Amino acid sequence: SIQYSYEHSVATYDSAMSQQHIRELMMENDFDRAIADEEFVVWYQPKYDVKTERIAGAEALVRWKKSDGTMISPGEFIPLFEKNGLIVRLDEYVFRKVCQKQKERMKQGKVVLPVSVNLSRATLHHDGIVERYAQIVYDNENPFESVPIELTETAALYSIQIQGLTEKMVNVGFMLHMDDFGSGYSSMTSLNVLPFHVLKLDKALIDYIGNSRGDQVIQHTIALAHGLDMKVLAEGVEKKEQVEFLRKMQCDEIQGFYYAMPQPYEVYDAMVEKEQSERK
Ligand code: C2E
Ligand code: MG
Ligand code: MG
Ligand code: MG
Repeated sequence: SIQYSYEHSVATYDSAMSQQHIRELMMENDFDRAIADEEFVVWYQPKYDVKTERIAGAEALVRWKKSDGTMISPGEFIPLFEKNGLIVRLDEYVFRKVCQKQKERMKQGKVVLPVSVNLSRATLHHDGIVERYAQIVYDNENPFESVPIELTETAALYSIQIQGLTEKMVNVGFMLHMDDFGSGYSSMTSLNVLPFHVLKLDKALIDYIGNSRGDQVIQHTIALAHGLDMKVLAEGVEKKEQVEFLRKMQCDEIQGFYYAMPQPYEVYDAMVEKEQSERK
């Protein structure tokens, strides 16, 4: 353990730790009730087709909406739930909600665009997860293409076990998106062995657009993905120059604040319906 020479530092360090610890314990103890009270809500961030600039689909992003109206962002509770195992239940909850909404849209005669759902590494490793997810898809009469699964590149890091699980998912019919590509644990090995359909370029890469070396990295990464029969989506796009560059590089889809933020389902629905009506 770390020893500080000043008593004061020790006290500050300890109380900071326990504050964090208390907060984590509270969120952990609150989980069942929060699920029961439907405090976890699924927001939708539209993805845009680069050529048409129309909505091509969305990503489902969970938020924790407390009864007092405050929102807790996933960055605060996902790492905790990944640590204590609750993520398995939360991921499945979000997936079910998205599948149900897709079914509802179908019944309403609305266009059903693909909505991708995040899956943590811990969830992927959970026993029977592929069968359970497939069952949810069948129960809601969803085409597999309408609910792609996002696996973060770190979660997709090469291992025999992960390779087996991802292949199983693809064989069942799931579409896989490799999330956060280029964010730190970039592994060409994962491109070699894992059956992904879409490569999501992380914001960290997009932020280098305009820097000549960064431009080249993106250009060649897109070419590499296309050569491997994957589509490419750029994440965290905030600027017009980035959109223009990505279009020139033949990136397929864009997701970012430049076009739209994550928002409640009703807002996403209204955006899609508006586009559909303009089409007629
Ligand atoms: P992610 O899967 O990489 O999702 C993209 C994140 O980038 C989202 O943050 C989104 O709001 C943000 N983002 C999108 N466009 C922009 C942009 O132009 N600029 C900036 N600065 N940010 C942008 P969010 O919603 O806070 O989610 C953070 C992470 O939490 C997600 O990263 C994902 O790893 C995780 N997460 C969210 N929902 C779930 C879930 O249901 N299950 C699991 N396992 N993880 C989830
Ligand atoms: Mg994601
Ligand atoms: Mg991610
Ligand atoms: Mg991402």
